[in-house]
Parts: sequence; structure tokens; C-alpha cells
Amino acid sequence: MNTGDIAHLMDTDGVTALGDYSAVVPVSPIAVVSPRNHADCVAIVQWANREGVSLVCRAGGTGTTGGALPITANTVVVTMRHMNRVIAMDESAATITVEPGVILAHIHDYVEGVGLFYPPDPASLAICTIGGNVMENAGGPRALKYGVTRNYVLGLKGVWGSGESFAYGGQCRKNVAGYDMIGLLTGSEGTLGIITEITLALRPKPRVIREMIVGYASSDDAVAALRNGMQQGVMPSTAEFMVDDCVAASLAYLGVSALFERHPAYVIWQVDGFTEADVEAQLARIVASSNYAGCMPMDTPERSEHVWSIRRSVSLGFTKMAGKKYSEDIVVPVSQLSATMLALADLAHESGIRVVGYGHLGDGNIHVNILKMGASDADWDRYAPDVVTSVMALAMRYGGSLSGEHGIGVTKKPYMGMQFTSNDLRVFAGIKSVVDPQGIMNPHKAIYDNDYKLR
Ligand SMILES: Cc1cc2nc3c(=O)[nH]c(=O)nc-3n(C[C@H](O)[C@H](O)[C@H](O)COP(=O)(O)OP(=O)(O)OC[C@H]3O[C@@H](n4cnc5c(N)ncnc54)[C@H](O)[C@@H]3O)c2cc1C
Repeated sequence: MNTGDIAHLMDTDGVTALGDYSAVVPVSPIAVVSPRNHADCVAIVQWANREGVSLVCRAGGTGTTGGALPITANTVVVTMRHMNRVIAMDESAATITVEPGVILAHIHDYVEGVGLFYPPDPASLAICTIGGNVMENAGGPRALKYGVTRNYVLGLKGVWGSGESFAYGGQCRKNVAGYDMIGLLTGSEGTLGIITEITLALRPKPRVIREMIVGYASSDDAVAALRNGMQQGVMPSTAEFMVDDCVAASLAYLGVSALFERHPAYVIWQVDGFTEADVEAQLARIVASSNYAGCMPMDTPERSEHVWSIRRSVSLGFTKMAGKKYSEDIVVPVSQLSATMLALADLAHESGIRVVGYGHLGDGNIHVNILKMGASDADWDRYAPDVVTSVMALAMRYGGSLSGEHGIGVTKKPYMGMQFTSNDLRVFAGIKSVVDPQGIMNPHKAIYDNDYKLR
């Protein structure tokens, strides 16, 4: 390999483990390069076009669908670990401009230090980067009130797969000139180019936050509680939904007992605002307007950490409880949540495979866990993929989408034909061919596949 003008960017000690949080097995890359700035990224992309090499960007490596993994021969990994500077913060415009490799929690701390607020809060915030968030259009519990990453991206700079630079947007809060290129790039999973600079909108930081876990006799009651609360004029910042199976799996995993009463379903409510009286009143209205079975205010650091650690450990708890599992993150319209939750439970298979959903109540994003449980290894291998397909079909039946926040990557690509027509997929491929004519950026991921069977 002739590394030519990018020889100095070779990174021999930077990336030792090339996995992510999916089960995808990566192919060894031929090299890892570590750019320091925009010009380095341009040089890398232009070199890759000349040499006929594919590029896969890697940021925090916390993706769950294989997006940051090399899966084809002759691929170079581009690690963003050295592009991790805050470039500028403009307090009067309430914006911050950063390089893509900045860890999200660092942005939170940085802006909150001056009374500002960047709301998107994926649970991986301590280890994922803002570049990865933009490329996956990441969401989090606060998406109910504040929206997802896309709602905060004002400007993007980078280099297309063709090697040409681009810079769209800036500090303006409104901008409808031309096609919405920021919308196109956000969520594009590194398939179009490398992002080198991001400008984000900020908001005033809420001064008061109150939380409570509320138990319900059924999932229906939990869903109705959100509807009733919103009709009462309350917009919680978070409404995280769990069934008792989630709590049981987490408690067993953590080796602790619940500090709250057990019920069939729960919502962790969080309300924020600027005065104690307003926030207390909103929380009281949510509880009063629902048919609740029990509740525990999360009014001490210990109680709050207890409940959130249970929520954070659901996935790990299910892995321990079930032996093996698949995790999906479908999304459906909020009006279809109750029906979808019931239909998911019905997908339990006679082999012993079970299906449990939990997640972000307010935006219809359900984390669906397909659990091996009592199924034999042979039955798991034979039937689990069909159950996953049924979960995706269910999302389609209820007017939903294959993914609410984790993206398509490698693992969900086989289902793209369920959501998109062959013409849709051709349009995706056409867009890519304009900005990345040699198809070097993250090939065979997310949007289409040369081998993909179009319906
Ligand atoms: C414990 C845990 C909890 C999680 N919780 C959430 C959650 O609540 N909400 C949520 O949305 N997701 C969640 N995720 C998924 C994951 O954290 C997000 O998708 C996150 O945005 C990925 O960021 P990253 O920096 O790790 O990116 P990576 O995984 O390294 O990369 C993600 C994609 O972006 C591309 N990419 C990265 N940087 C660039 C760049 N500069 N230019 C071009 N392409 C680039 C990569 O090629 C890849 O396709 C969770 C993951 C874990 C492990």
C-alpha cells in the first residue's frame, strides 16, 4: 500500500479493539489513520479514492448496529480520537462549535458551566462522541420534550466521499435556502463523507428537575398516564417505560432489592423547569391525572441513582436472564404504543423464546428484546431470526420504522425492503453516487447494498 501523503497520519497504537456494541464480527482493516483537522480528512479521502481503498469512520465505538466496523477487505479505519476540541462557544447566540470526536458528556459539562443546556442524552453519553451522535441522529430519554440530535445541528463542515469539502449552515436558527443538506447528513451513518466540524444550538439550562417512579396495573394505564398528563398541559422531559420483567431482570443483575413497590408496569417521570412551584405542580398533575398503583419520589441522590441504575441495567439484566438475546429499537406512532406492546408479547414462541418491550414512552421508541430463555440452542438458531423479522413486520403494521435511534448499520440492512420501496432505495443509492462516486465511504452499510435484492 502506498501511503504517500497520509503516511504521517497512520495510527499504530490508537485503536486496539475494533468491535462495537453489536454482534457483528469486523474484518481486520489494512490500516488505522488518525486525522488532526479538516485538511487531514480531505487528504485521507482523496488518497483513498486514488488507491481504491474504503474508509470507515470510528468515533466512540458505541454503535449497536455495526456502523463503525470494517466489514470488507481493503478498508482503512479513520479514528476521530484526535479531533476532540471545542472550537468556540458563543453565549449570546447560544451555540457551540466542536470537532466531531468530543465526548458528549464533555459538551454537557462545558455548556452547563455557563448556564446553557444541550438536551440530547443517549445513555452512552459518557463514552460516545458528538460526531457519532450526528451520524446516528442519536436520541435519549429527554427526546420527549426536547427532540433528538437533528433538532440541534445548525452547521456541518466536512468532506464528501468524492474528496470535495462542504460547509452547510452556521449559527442561524432558521435556514431554508436550498435542499436540507444538514438533514440529509444527520443520520447518514458515515456513508456520505467525514464530518469535521459541528455547530450545535443550545438552550437555557432548566434550574429545577424533579423525578418520580410511578407503578401502574397495566401497560395501558402507563400509556394513558402520558396522554392524560399532556392533556393537562404537562410536557415531561422524560417518560421511561418498563414492565416488571425489566425490573426483575435488572434487580437480579445488580443483586439488589427494589426500594419501590412492585407493579406490572412503571414510568420514570422527569419534569424540569425554572421554578420549584411550577415543576412540583406539573409532577403532581401527571400523577393525579393517571390511574396509578403506587409511586416513589426520586427525591434523594440514592433513590434517583437506584431507579436509574435499574433502567440502565435492563439490557444487561436480560442478557444474564435469557442467556442470549437480540435487541431491536423499533418506533411506532404514540397512538399505537398499547397495541404494539400487546402484539409484541404475543410473538413469544413455543420454543420458549420471549419478547419484551420497554423504552421511551413519549416518542414511541420501543427497545424490543428477543430473549432465548428456555429455548434450546438449536431452536434459538432456527427461530430467533424469524421472531426478529416478525418484530420488524409489526413496526411496519403499526405505521412505524425499523429504528428510532440506533440506525441501520449492518444488522438491520436485511429489513430495509420492508420499509422502503425499490425506488426509495434507488434514490438513496443515487444520492450516494453523486457525493461518493467510487462508493468508498462505509460501503455496504445503512442505506443500500450493491447485492441488495430490490423488491
Ligand atoms: C450502553 C449504550 C447505551 C446507548 N444508548 C443510546 C441511547 O439512549 N440513544 C441512542 O440514540 N443511542 C444509544 N446508544 C447507541 C450509540 O451510543 C449511539 O449510536 C452513538 O451516537 C454512537 O456514537 P459513537 O461516538 O460511539 O459512534 P460510533 O459507534 O463510533 O460510530 C457510529 C457511526 O457514525 C460514523 N461516524 C462516526 N464519526 C464520524 C464522522 N466524524 N464522520 C462520519 N462518520 C462518522 C461511524 O462510521 C458509524 O457509522 C447506546 C449505546 C450503548 C453501548
